Amino acid sequence: MRAMRESADLVVLGAGPSGLAAAWRAALRGLSVVVLERAGHVGGLSASFEVAGVRVDHGSHRLHPATPPRLLADLRGLLGDDLQTRPRNGRLRIAGRFVGFPLRAGELARSLPPGLLAGVARDAATAPLRGGRHADTYAGTLRASLGPALYDALYAPYAVKLWGLPGEEIDGDQARRRVTADSPWKIARRILRGRPDGQGKIFHYPRRGFGQIVEALAEAATAAGAEIRLGAACTRIEPAEESVTLHTSRGSGTGNSGTSPGSASPGATPTGAGGEAADGRIEAGRVFSTIPMPALARLVEPGPPAGVVEAAGRLRFRAMVLVYAVHEGGRWTPYDAHYLPGPETPVTRISEPANYRTGAADPADRTVLCFEIPCAAGDDLWTAEDFSGLIHETLAASGLPPVNLAEVAVRRVPHVYPVYETGYAAHLAGLDAWAGTVPGVTTFGRLGLFAHDNTHHAMAMGYDAVDSLTDADTGTGTGTGTGWDTAAWRAARARFAEHVVED
Ligand SMILES: Cc1cc2nc3c(=O)[nH]c(=O)nc-3n(C[C@H](O)[C@H](O)[C@H](O)COP(=O)(O)OP(=O)(O)OC[C@H]3O[C@@H](n4cnc5c(N)ncnc54)[C@H](O)[C@@H]3O)c2cc1C
Repeated sequence: MRAMRESADLVVLGAGPSGLAAAWRAALRGLSVVVLERAGHVGGLSASFEVAGVRVDHGSHRLHPATPPRLLADLRGLLGDDLQTRPRNGRLRIAGRFVGFPLRAGELARSLPPGLLAGVARDAATAPLRGGRHADTYAGTLRASLGPALYDALYAPYAVKLWGLPGEEIDGDQARRRVTADSPWKIARRILRGRPDGQGKIFHYPRRGFGQIVEALAEAATAAGAEIRLGAACTRIEPAEESVTLHTSRGSGTGNSGTSPGSASPGATPTGAGGEAADGRIEAGRVFSTIPMPALARLVEPGPPAGVVEAAGRLRFRAMVLVYAVHEGGRWTPYDAHYLPGPETPVTRISEPANYRTGAADPADRTVLCFEIPCAAGDDLWTAEDFSGLIHETLAASGLPPVNLAEVAVRRVPHVYPVYETGYAAHLAGLDAWAGTVPGVTTFGRLGLFAHDNTHHAMAMGYDAVDSLTDADTGTGTGTGTGWDTAAWRAARARFAEHVVED
């Protein structure tokens, strides 16, 4: 086939929330924008799809009230009344019992075993004495700040399930990026006083599933003139000072949300699709990449030095199997999510998407539960074919009601959590420093920066990237060209480093 050749001011790799937000903002400024998305649908990890007539997400997803007002206002503008504000209603299993999550003081005092409560109280009282030197690992950081009792009961087993490593082998950055209340006193203050603006008590969620956010972003980007190509993979990137040449081909149609062969496939919902993907070349004034940073390193020619390639190979992502259990007989429980940190099951969370929203067209006679199972791509969980046994065993082991199982659907996602194994920072720094030298190419997003984040963080990165564009000729910050304001981007990266994930 003869390769088509075309040009665009901006090519965005990946149609997750970071890429879509960037595409929308850039198109609004009058840039010609092409988005290349390898999967057959937009949204990345934030997408929704249908199982047994129920819209479901990639695990529990909610828009956190910490979303910056500017982004929230834009999303309200796009979604209108469909963006609902809902009370949180989750449960966390700790020491063999369920407590409400977010935590409530009275219930905690009543429900936790006296031994654990006494341990937490003792650790709180002795917290000032625990300062000083401790290993900069997840375990060392949280044992010093939270105390051993809470760490051992909750955080230690959860770390093994989520990231596949004991806390002693995980960098302290993981604790700083993931644990917002990092001392017994902060936890107690939150429980007793609540969080600003009732943050722990509510969340935002669209009536038609979390994916309605990315679908609305894709529609807005398309309406502003961006072209979104689904099933389109980038196979090579040749950067030069004047422009960047991207080689494209029809993708696998799975992207980061691949459903492996043989598993029941929840139908993907292509949205905001522009042209059909084709083999070809695009000359881009600038490239925004939101694909995994190691994948970017493999695409760029000439590639990075051998040391950087080796460093890239050492960065690991945790994979996840998402198992959707169709339960006949109406709603399963009134809760939105059950958090299961304990070692009795590999499942970390069970969510019931219909309970995240109201007024949706969800069927009355059935519901769908999503079981999140972190794993390593290729391991026994990843390759398992039948999950019905695990579903029933998990519910029984966790003291949860049984399901009347009508159907099971499975999604396997290879890149879910960046793993901050001790030593990761040096590998990442080398790769990131190299990425910063590639002319005309900027990497960001969850996979693009190897960062733990929320959807609002990913969107903010897209906005900040567009705000760093300058008029190419004058170098001024008009944002209407494809030049680059290095100082603005450096400041934005410093802001991203402050992002802390909200659960
Ligand atoms: C289990 C789980 C629960 C979460 N819960 C929440 C929550 O409650 N609230 C919240 O705000 N956030 C939550 N998040 C985080 C949220 O999903 C991410 O922050 C967000 O989706 C990241 O957006 P992104 O655009 O950076 O990356 P992604 O969503 O990963 O999108 C990247 C896109 O790039 C595409 N791609 C990859 N490789 C290529 C390639 N070579 N060529 C072209 N395209 C490619 C992928 O197919 C994908 O569409 C959760 C994440 C997980 C895993």
